[in-house]
Amino acid sequence: MVSGGADPQVATRMIGAMNYELYMGEALEEARAAVARGERPHAAVAVLDEAMVARGHDRVLETDDPTAHAVIVALREAARRVGSERLRDVTMFTTMEPCPMCVGALLASDVDGLVFAMPNRIEGAAGTCVQLADHPALTRRLKVVSGIRRDEAEELYAASAT
Ligand SMILES: [Zn+2]
Repeated sequence: MVSGGADPQVATRMIGAMNYELYMGEALEEARAAVARGERPHAAVAVLDEAMVARGHDRVLETDDPTAHAVIVALREAARRVGSERLRDVTMFTTMEPCPMCVGALLASDVDGLVFAMPNRIEGAAGTCVQLADHPALTRRLKVVSGIRRDEAEELYAASAT
């Protein structure tokens, strides 16, 4: 089921028994909504105990906030919904591999896992450009699964790049 083998630099592990395709589908839906609003197709969905607790997309342009990346938007919403800043056992689904700020925020939030569709060759911080998700000098680790519905994500990014 996990098809992360395409990029050997990206660690691929199982995170519990959950339907990766289903939740990535939700993230892709959120990404389409972002594109419709003139944002980039970066989207994130937070899942806890097989339930979606937050979803968000990039709001950088809309809010003039350079930190309003999809992962940050979804983390803030998840923390509000869960009622805690510690998001242990949460898995974050993203259309693209997150940047260093976002992987740092996932680690700081105690999020358990990250599932992403396509690698980020410009600033991916879960193994593609740098590896912060599993860094020996850091005390926290993030389980990572990559390549889920990658083709759909790549099509969406290609279509929105024009
Ligand atoms: Zn980011």
